[in-house]
Amino acid sequence: MALLEIEDLEVYYESEDGPIKAVDGVSFDIDAGETVGIVGESGCGKSTLAKALIGILPRNGYVNDGTVRFDGDTLTAMSERRQRELRWDEISLIAQSAMNALDPVYTIREQIQEAIDAHYPKMGRTESQQKIDEAFDLVGLDRERQTDYPHQFSGGMRQRAMIAMSLVLEPSLILADEPTTALDVIMQDQILKRVNEIQRESDTAMMVITHDVAVVAETCDRIVVMYAGEIAEEGPASDIFGKPYHPYTLGLKSAFPDIRRSEQDLVSIGGHPPDLSNPPSGCRFAERCPLATDVCRETVPPIREHGGLSSRCHHTDRIDSELRPVSDKAR
Ligand code: ATP
Ligand code: MG
Repeated sequence: MALLEIEDLEVYYESEDGPIKAVDGVSFDIDAGETVGIVGESGCGKSTLAKALIGILPRNGYVNDGTVRFDGDTLTAMSERRQRELRWDEISLIAQSAMNALDPVYTIREQIQEAIDAHYPKMGRTESQQKIDEAFDLVGLDRERQTDYPHQFSGGMRQRAMIAMSLVLEPSLILADEPTTALDVIMQDQILKRVNEIQRESDTAMMVITHDVAVVAETCDRIVVMYAGEIAEEGPASDIFGKPYHPYTLGLKSAFPDIRRSEQDLVSIGGHPPDLSNPPSGCRFAERCPLATDVCRETVPPIREHGGLSSRCHHTDRIDSELRPVSDKAR
């Protein structure tokens, strides 16, 4: 049994134009100790997915259909109170804006201590201080800065502090929503690798959300590529970045610099994602896709398998000859 099982999840927001289908029929699993990356352009539903998983959708957001099971328990059937208890205990979220998640009137140490007290009320001060020290060491923050207030930290340090706070509670699943936006790419890579090491030692699963594919290329086991609320492609990270079969994944790949290669031509994907209150009836990517034909505009694509990859595209058989860059064909 997978640690987290998501089945046909639909998450909508109420709006004046009718429901916005932010997450629409998403299914995938995360195993214990596994790291799964969720990638896709801004607005494709990544944060909505994470918020739905731990029950912190805004007022106008709701789970319309589908199930989420965590360790065998159906989260989607739980009361909000029970979902909140699970949050920070078993599942912890490293939020997109770390500044808002930290309270400006308490020191970093006080805030981590409070989180520990809430979850391990019997833990003594010596032990909890030791845990805080260890967490600071792990994320590369100077122990002496524990008595600083959030405003004394840079954006990157605040994010490290958030990561430290979530690690201290030893959750079985960490949801990291762009945990490293405030840092430069090299730093991002370092921090994620660090969290990776810690996570492998403790069998913690992680879901890393980002729009930058290079960030997750080396740190994730598996990648889920989202487009307009749906999964466009999913599979082992090495295949997703090495030899994807969905034109959108190829587009994402060429739109971001590869940190391992010095020279490359970056080509951004033209156009914009569709309006999620009225998504197109066929393939949602058709309007921007270089391979699109009439069938794409009319019929929802089937999911095709290529090795470990599942790709939602009518034309996976044309990728190699028409779209794949020469440098990737040899892989
Ligand atoms: P980013 O990379 O910018 O963080 P994302 O992939 O996390 O984007 P979401 O924030 O999940 O995307 O948004 C998905 C869709 O839901 C978008 O169309 C967005 O405009 C819409 N949306 C998000 N929050 C709300 C809200 N509170 N009310 C209405 N619509 C919303
Ligand atoms: Mg987001």
